[in-house]
Parts: sequence; structure tokens; C-alpha cells
Amino acid sequence: MEGLMQQQPLLISTLLEHASRHHGATAVVSRRTEGGFFRTTWRDTAVRAHRLAHALDGLRLAPGERVGTLAWNTHRHLELYFGVSGSGRVLHTINPRLHAQQVAWIVNHAQDRAVCFDLAFLALVREILPLCPHVRHWIALCEDDRLPADTGIAGLASYEALLGTGTARYPWPALDENSASTICYTSGTTGPPKGVLYSHRSAVLNAYAAATPDAMNLSARDAVLPVVPMFHVNAWGMVYAAALVGAVLVLPAQALGGEALYELIEAEQVTFAAGVPTVWQGLLDHMASRELRFTALGRAMIGGSTCPESMIRDLQERHGVQVIHAWGMTETSPLGIVCTPKREHLGLAADEMVALCAKQGRAIFGIDMRIVGDDGHELAWDGKSCGELQVKGPAIVRDYYGNTEGSPLRDGWFPTGDVATIDAQGYVQITDRSKDLIKSGGEWISSVALEAVACAHPAVKYAACIGVAHPRWGQRPVVVAVLKPGAALGRDELIRFYEGKVARWQIPDDAIFLDDMPLGPTGKVLKSALRELVASRAPPRSPG
Ligand code: AMP
Repeated sequence: MEGLMQQQPLLISTLLEHASRHHGATAVVSRRTEGGFFRTTWRDTAVRAHRLAHALDGLRLAPGERVGTLAWNTHRHLELYFGVSGSGRVLHTINPRLHAQQVAWIVNHAQDRAVCFDLAFLALVREILPLCPHVRHWIALCEDDRLPADTGIAGLASYEALLGTGTARYPWPALDENSASTICYTSGTTGPPKGVLYSHRSAVLNAYAAATPDAMNLSARDAVLPVVPMFHVNAWGMVYAAALVGAVLVLPAQALGGEALYELIEAEQVTFAAGVPTVWQGLLDHMASRELRFTALGRAMIGGSTCPESMIRDLQERHGVQVIHAWGMTETSPLGIVCTPKREHLGLAADEMVALCAKQGRAIFGIDMRIVGDDGHELAWDGKSCGELQVKGPAIVRDYYGNTEGSPLRDGWFPTGDVATIDAQGYVQITDRSKDLIKSGGEWISSVALEAVACAHPAVKYAACIGVAHPRWGQRPVVVAVLKPGAALGRDELIRFYEGKVARWQIPDDAIFLDDMPLGPTGKVLKSALRELVASRAPPRSPG
């Protein structure tokens, strides 16, 4: 028997139309890459997205064709999110921090027909231009009079001139909700990048789940700041979720340093912001150096890599900001696991609450999860058994774009490559990426656990642990640390700090200090660079 409710597809265009119609006067504030701010509303964002969709028709971009972006978080990127996907094309958000060769590979693999870019990436575009002959349209995200002369890019158009060719009312097509809306490539740390092709349905479902109280807890009373780039997994779904609830949306462009972020958060009275731990650390360092306080920020979502307990304490105890630790991947749309307490946790002592918040959290609606052992059998949810985290759900990847190597799924589950425990209440704790685990004398050591110890030292700003080849033990752990400004700490002192905190054989053999941590294109520690660095040094001493 068929239900008698209206059959309306879940479409990205409906998110924008909802925001425009029901929250039309609500602000959208964007830092401009060229300086200053662009202040607009959801209503006017919709008008510009309509113009863009018309203009894309004018460029004869067929339904399903890919439109690439090399852009920071700005109002123009926001319009592309809705105008490209809403009109039936596929938005391809490209990470501009990748090497030119890698960007070109991704553009060609996705078969982008148009690429829209911030002028800041003009040099990158010039490099990839000869490598990407199938791109028909290069569009600079700027006003016409800002287009530089002699770019060497034939037919280069300005975005604002293009928008001028469109009209303010576009009839969004009634697409199949399962049609592709967006493509995003994995960062390619374990082989060539892989394209994850989201659908309108998966994007809207993940936005619904992201907005719920036990996830981002978003509402029309929020001002939302996605510090996480819009080229990194749909800005963790925040753009769609902000439209869904009608929140004020604040976009930081390229100004991601502590001082600029603090000023933006205060000026726009941001109540919810999300980013990777390194971004939050920059913000907290700036605030500590000036003894600054937040006046409106209530919630900080931290994910992308493990959030250290020291950061949770700083934000929660010193600044009164609720930390929402979250886990996700390009393949999970991305939001999958979020850490907020359950009713039974409300009486926890402060230290116990911090320990809970340091876990990655529990499954949001729309994701199922399990951990499996090496033999492929599901392991118990006892907080101790450790296995590969596998997930499934309507917003989880089924296959990669253009994949010729067989399904990535195992028995219908997507293997994440993360190693985790799940406790009896359903809280996940990631103990490592499978490729980052350190195997010493046949026993596994969690690099995450070793990093947490180093980060708890008051002199340490960042720490990363890697396994270094060892003739007797296979691998031995080495800790690499960056100290806080003005702090002093010796190698032996840091190694001694581990005593009593981890098993004796797990204590790192060596401690190396760097001025800066090498970060990958998504702001995560680049362990491959650390491995190369450490491998070029003398072998570590054996444990006693
Ligand atoms: P990406 O696809 O670039 O977003 O990377 C996804 C990977 O980032 C996951 O598989 C995890 O290894 C890691 N990750 C994401 N969030 C967290 C978190 N909260 N804690 C630890 N690792 C995380």
C-alpha cells in the first residue's frame, strides 16, 4: 500500500528556497578575499544563485556536468553551492592546497567543464591550464574590473559579469533526489585521490541530522561560522544545515589565523563555529596572549583529527564554550559520529565529563556502525575491544566515481580505515588510523594515546607520534613536538613525562622538537613528512 503523502524530492535547491522564503532577512556575512566584507541576506543569496543558474545555462553546461571551484569560504562560493547543484550540475569543490599536478589530475578525473577560482589561485590556475584541455570555461570569482590584464587564460570571464547575464528568477528543476549534486575528492594520503559523489538526498539527510540538538544543535537563533573550508567535505555540511534552520551564516574567506577569527567571532556574535584542532589552537593561543574572552560563542565543533583533552578543558573551563567533538570523513558526507552527553551523564564529575568529550561520540541518525576484528567478525561494544570502524547509511559512499577496482564495501559496510573501540553506551573512541598504528615487538601502540600524553604537558603546543623502523622491535614510537611560545622542554624531560602514564614499553624512544608541525592540505599533521624527517636521523635507542 502506498502512502498518500506528497512526493517531493529532497533537493539542495529546497534548502535555499526555504532559507530565502522563511528567513529571507537573516544575514549572510562574508569576508571578501579582496578585502572588506560583503553583507547580504538569505533572500539576496537566493537571487544571486538564481542568476548564476541562468548564466550556467547560457554557458551550455549540460545537466550532470561538473563545475569545479578553487575557492575560500565566501558568499560567491556559497552561491555556487546552490546555483550549480540546484540547477542540476555537479559542484566539484577542489582543495587548492594540493600540488598543481594533483589538482590537474583531480580536475581531469572529474572531467570538470568549468572551473571557478578566487584570484588568489590565479598562479595555480595558470599551472594547471595546459594540463586540463577539457575545461571549457575559466571563471574568476571577482568583479569585471578586477580581472588582471594578460592572464594568458583565453576567454577568462569574471563571475560578476557572468551573473549579470542571468535573471533573478530561475525555475529549479525537479531533479531525482538520487541524482549527483557534488563531488569531493579524498586527500589522497593512501593512494590516488578518490571521488565521492554525493546526491541531493544524501546532502539533505546529512544536513537534517547535523542540525539536531545532539549534533550541531543549530537553530534560527544561531550565527554559524564554518572555519572548516568549503572545499573540505562540504564544510562539514554546515552551509546546508545553516540554510535548513535559517541561521546567520558567517564566512571567513582566507583569514583563518587566531586574531582574524577572534575578531570575526566577536564582531558577528558567532554562537557556533567548527574547525580542525590546529585552527582552534591558533585561536586559543591568540586569546591567551591577549587575555581575551568570547562574548557570544557557545559551541565549538572540533573534528578532523582527535581533539586533545587540554583543548577541551581550555574551551569548556576557561571560556565556557561547549566542545562538540565530531568524527567524519569525505566518504560519510561527512558528519557521522558526534560527542554529546546522554541523560545518564549529566551528573558526571568535571574530569569524567572531559574524558567523555574526548571520545569521538555516538552515531547520529542515518549512520550505523560496528567494529570488526582482523577475522572480519564484529567485536563487542565494551570500550576495550579494538577493531576497524565500519559504517553504513544513506549518506555513506557506495562506490567511488570512476572506480575500476571493485566495490569498496565489505558486506554492505564501508571500512573507514580507523581503529576504534565502542563502549556500552555507544560512544566511539578512535585509537588510530590503521596506517598510523605503531607495532612494536608484535604489540600495537596507539599513536593517538601517545599524542594525548605529550599534549597534556604544559609546554607542548602540538605533538604527533610515529613508528620508526627498528631492527629488533619492528617499530618503536617517537614523539615529535612543537612547544608553546617561550616554553622550554628537554628531550629527556618529555620522555620522562610518559612514565606512569603508559606502559613502559610504549614510552617513546626519542623526542624531537620542531618549530612548526608539517600540516597536510586539510590542516591535519602530515605524518608522512614526519616519517621522512625522522628516518633521515640516527636510529632511536632500544627500550630497556
Ligand atoms: P577526511 O576524509 O579528509 O575528512 O579524513 C577523514 C579521517 O580523518 C577519518 O577517517 C579519521 O581518520 C580522521 N578524523 C576525522 N575526525 C576525527 C576525530 N574527531 N578524531 C580522530 N580522527 C578523526
